[in-house]
Parts: sequence; C-alpha cells; structure tokens
Amino acid sequence: MKKFINATIYGNPDSHEILVENNQFKVIGNDLGDADEVIDLGGRLVLPPYVDPHLHLDYIFSGLGEGNANISGTLFEGIQRWSDNKKTLTEELVRERAMKGIQKEVSKGVQFIRTHVDITDPNLTGMKALIKLREELKSIVTLQLVAFPQEGFFRYKGAEELMEKALEMGADAAGGIPHFEISYEHGVESLRRIVDLAIKYDVMIDIHCDENDDPNSRFLEVLNALVTEKEYGEYTTASHTTSFASVENSYANKMMGLFKESKINFISCPTENAHLQGRGDTYPKRRGLTRVKELLANGNNVAFAQDSIADYWYPLGNGNMMNILDNGIHLAHYTHIDEINKAFDLITYNGANIMRVNEEYGIEAGKPANFIVLDATDAYEAIRERAEVLASVRNGEYLFKRAPRVNEIEIDFLKEL
Ligand SMILES: [Zn+2]
Repeated sequence: MKKFINATIYGNPDSHEILVENNQFKVIGNDLGDADEVIDLGGRLVLPPYVDPHLHLDYIFSGLGEGNANISGTLFEGIQRWSDNKKTLTEELVRERAMKGIQKEVSKGVQFIRTHVDITDPNLTGMKALIKLREELKSIVTLQLVAFPQEGFFRYKGAEELMEKALEMGADAAGGIPHFEISYEHGVESLRRIVDLAIKYDVMIDIHCDENDDPNSRFLEVLNALVTEKEYGEYTTASHTTSFASVENSYANKMMGLFKESKINFISCPTENAHLQGRGDTYPKRRGLTRVKELLANGNNVAFAQDSIADYWYPLGNGNMMNILDNGIHLAHYTHIDEINKAFDLITYNGANIMRVNEEYGIEAGKPANFIVLDATDAYEAIRERAEVLASVRNGEYLFKRAPRVNEIEIDFLKEL
C-alpha cells in the first residue's frame, strides 16, 4: 500500500491524501493512516493523466529530413506529400515512428491517445502496425484507433471496403474527411455511409470536419443532423471544425441549439490549425480555432489535441499537452480566471469523455491509480508557469519520476525563485 500525502488534487480541494493498493485508488481523503510507503508531494498539483484525443501516429515525424517540408503550409499539400510517400511505407517504419511519438507523449504525462490511422492504403499497413502497438503498450498507454480515409472515402477508390476491413480488424472508431471529397454531395454521402458503418460495427465516430476557412462549409451541420437522427451524438466527435469560426453569428446561434440537442463532441487542435488556417487571408488572419469558448458555454464537450508532430502538415510539436493548452486558451480567449482554473479539463477529462474511458479515468476510489504530478501548487500557477510534469503513475507504478529543475550555478538574486 502506498500513500501520497500533501497533494493538491485538481477538482477536489478538500482532500490531500491518496491511498493506492493493488494498482487502484483505495481512498482519497485526509489522515488515511499507515502505509508501506509514504510519498510527500509537497503540496504539488495532482491531475488525472493528460489525454491527447487526436494524433496521427502513422505519419508522425514523416516531415523530418531534406525535401520533406510542406512548402505552402496548407492541408492540401500535406495530403499530396503523404500520398506520394506512403507507397513505400512498411509496418516496421510505422511502428518505429509511432513508438517514438508515443514515447514523446508519455514522457510528458500523456497516458491516453486517440490516433487517426490512414486506411486509404490497399495493405492497411498503418492499421496493422498500430493494432499490434495498442496491445503491446497497453500497460503504459491506452491507444484508440480511428479508421481514417485520409485521401477521401469516395475520392480514394476502394476506401469504403478498406474502412470496413479496418473495423473488422478492430478499429475503435470510424473517421472521415468530407471537405476533401470532390463535391458537397460526395461529402454528404460519405458521412451517411460512415455513420451507418459506425453503427453497424458499434464503434465511435470521429470526423475531420470542415477543416478549412470556408464560411459555407456545412459538413458539421450534416454530421450533426445524421447523428441526431440516430441518437449517436455522444459517440461522435467533430474534429477541427475551423470553418465554424467564420460563419455568421445568426447561423452559429441556430447550430448551437442543435449541438446542445445532439450532445456532439468537439476537438480543436490549436497549434496545428493556427499553422494551417488563414493561409489564404491577408489581414486580418483567422486563428484556426472553432468556437471553443462558446461551445463550452453551450454545454458541449470540447477537448484540445496535438494532431501532428513534425509531419507533412505541421513542422513542430513535441507531445507536450501544456503547450497545446497554453496556445489554445490564448487563441480561444479562454482566459478569465474562472476559465483558467478549469482549463485543465480541456486536456484531461474532456478528452477522456470523447474516448469514453470514464470508467477507468479520474482520481476516485476503485479506479486504476493513474495520475500525474505537476511542479506547481494549483491549477492557475501550473498554467501560468507552464509547469512541468514531474511524475506519471499508471496502475500505481511510476512511468517516470523526475526532480524539479535546479540551477547548477546561480547568483543570490535568483535563489528565491
Ligand atoms: Zn487530424
């Protein structure tokens, strides 16, 4: 039995001790009595692990190396470059890249990742590699796989059969990219078929939806309507929806009512889309985020995600969810003190809701003892200081633990910091 004392638990200000037994949280409270091992957290902030609910592990780090940079910085050039490159893809290469990406994220406190895996590939190379990794790494990280038709459900010949095959192989969700199909009608029909496939295989839905700056892009409306009819909104996520930031307020207000009804989820990728969107603008330039603040106020579930790390779409990224959160709350104006105090939800609980892992997620008695410790004493300080993750615990055991940074040499003036 292990006891963690002097903890500041996010969302539970009255309890300061955590008792862990047999890999689970046994009790959360105060004065919890004896334990085999007592760990003093010195008042530091304890959170459930970070969740990254939208990441592309099959082409992570593909943008590294000479000649691999996306020159225009657009989504469309990224898709073209990947399409050319993936013809020579092997399971070993996907595994190697994905492993490196997962290591990056886990080393920064992530324990739950939803990854989109391109199924517009006759060999389903990425899906095969990631299904193996999902099983192999489950004691370290919970991976969910979305069967994602990167080159279009209709635009890529045979994508429908390949998606069905991926779902039979055990993908956790069905994906789509309606704004990349060759017409509005094709986009609508792709959504219809993807929703039907998801229901047939009893999996979640996660669509790359309206990832553009076109105020007339309407696939979010269509997706929302389809899942409302099927009562499938809670199992459905609209990723990106950047165009929704450009629509008229009167239209947005109408849609807000419909989103409330469907309970559809949203994912915003702040750094990725700040990079990709607004490329056709002069000034003012659009920020690339959907209406995060308003959707949250509307009662819809919204999470932030990394999306890409050094691939054909985005040259930066390192799996640090604090960086994503910091960018996201700035770009979304989610910076009132009350908002900052609950902003960690965007990279923890809200992502867990999207992945529907609630039963195993959260610092509560009876759940697996998964948590992280930050080098700060409350949520506001942690976000303002972009605090580092000092420890990540999974099933009661450390994935890592590190000492707070110390200076090797410093002048007296800096000693109190
Ligand atoms: Zn994506």
